[in-house]
Amino acid sequence: MAIDSPNEAATLPILSHYINGTRVEVLPEQTGPVYNPATGQVIARVPRGGQAEVDAAVAAAGAAFPAWRDMPLIARSNIFFAFRGLMHEHREELARLITRDHGKTFPDALAEVLRGIETIDFACGLPVHLSGMNTPNVSTKVDTYTMRAPLGVVAAITPFNFPVMVPTWIYPMALMAGNTVILKPSSHTPGATQLQAELWTRAGGPDGTLNIVYGGKEAVRAIVEHPGIRAIQFVGSTAVGRYVFEEGTRRGKRVGSYTSAKNAMLVLPDADLDMVADAAVAAGFGSAGERCMAQTLLIAVGDTGGQLRPRILDRIARLKIADGMEPGADMGPIYSREHRESVIDWIGVGESEGAELVVDGRAFEGPNPDGFFLGVSLFDNVTPEMRIFREEIFGPVFGIVHAKTFEEGVALINGHRYANGTAVFTKDGGAARRFKLEVDVPMIGVNVPIPVPAGFMSFSGSKDSSIGDLPMRGEDGVRFWTQQKMVTERWPEPGRQGPLSLVFPGNS
Ligand code: NAD
Repeated sequence: MAIDSPNEAATLPILSHYINGTRVEVLPEQTGPVYNPATGQVIARVPRGGQAEVDAAVAAAGAAFPAWRDMPLIARSNIFFAFRGLMHEHREELARLITRDHGKTFPDALAEVLRGIETIDFACGLPVHLSGMNTPNVSTKVDTYTMRAPLGVVAAITPFNFPVMVPTWIYPMALMAGNTVILKPSSHTPGATQLQAELWTRAGGPDGTLNIVYGGKEAVRAIVEHPGIRAIQFVGSTAVGRYVFEEGTRRGKRVGSYTSAKNAMLVLPDADLDMVADAAVAAGFGSAGERCMAQTLLIAVGDTGGQLRPRILDRIARLKIADGMEPGADMGPIYSREHRESVIDWIGVGESEGAELVVDGRAFEGPNPDGFFLGVSLFDNVTPEMRIFREEIFGPVFGIVHAKTFEEGVALINGHRYANGTAVFTKDGGAARRFKLEVDVPMIGVNVPIPVPAGFMSFSGSKDSSIGDLPMRGEDGVRFWTQQKMVTERWPEPGRQGPLSLVFPGNS
């Protein structure tokens, strides 16, 4: 990517890779632009790292690993407590950087930072999470126990849409287990990453334990192929996640890819329809629909769709779409110019497929003509054959689907290739219970539209929304980032003389 204007290099801040506790400066020619989507202006430049930077980060992380692994757990835990404090102290600064790079509103960005800190809270309790089980006397004078050992140098590859929350769902979990980490964030929203790494160092995180390499395809390839990296968690689109999983596991790495989504909420006729309309508009259009847990389809059972439509329209009419820093803004711009074009194309696809376009976001004129603004769109009479039902759009485009029965609604959800989050809206506890048992989606809301589990719980979809066996975070995250060792132990007593036996050791 070329420099956009001759003077730009002199005036714009250039982000640095962060390796071995130090900023690694790069030349302007080795960078790409970072845009503020609310203005369309280039506001910084981000390095385009590749093999050399990944090699340097792996070397630093490898050198830091033995001392970090062997650090007394309370000392390691104290670093997490200090880091948690610093992240809280800097939460508004982090949120401003998120809004600047991504476009989501400042309150939404702040909420993202706080949801990310929940995982750091979990990591503070690492001495408990890393404990094993101990069973004495499994045989004569033989004891057995389990230990959780770190894997070594590991990596996180993260998407544009949660520049703080998704990385903090990964690197604190990997670090608490005693691994050292290379984080490769999205180049679209890089601003908040460097600050996190610097806060980690300020908290006492030893040099080389958390390293940042900026870059795109080339950096990802270098991570996936690097023999020194033992495990990767990837969050992003299914196509890239599948590549990371297949290439990574082929090279002997443990890989978890948490990927694309298309989430549907099922609305039963007895639901509180005002609550549903609030939920639909908040989930569908919050963060410009750029959330992997956003519900962007509403499956209305019976005649609920007809009753919901005016309620949703009423709320859409009141939405304020503006620069995310503007007080009262409900929704900001789309994160990039190219993605805005892609969402516009999807609206055309929906029209050509015969869905009823009730609100057309293309008609919206943004507050800044150079920004990447787009209005919200509402389709009615979406059907399961349509691509706008089957594919992820990842923008502010919401679809209403009509189903005759509960069973038909659940079948539509279960027939989808993606399975990240879903929700049921009803006042009937029995129906909600049936939904939880029958729906084939792991993260479920009951009258909750964005059912992201709390930070101490695991997080994962299934089918094409998750490739790999273990969820991230929570107890599953501890399992992902450690190798369990099973020890069988005997200590000979002084003067013992036992008979030699070639029989397979038993339990007597
Ligand atoms: P993306 O797949 O384009 O990028 C993810 C990461 O991969 C980034 O770090 C990016 O630099 C890198 N990358 C992009 N293209 C690549 C390529 N061709 N080869 C190698 N690396 C590449 O995803 P995105 O657009 O940043 O994020 C949006 C996607 O992430 C959506 O599909 C969304 O559903 C998904 N997502 C999923 C979850 C989840 O937990 N399941 C959470 C957030 C986002």
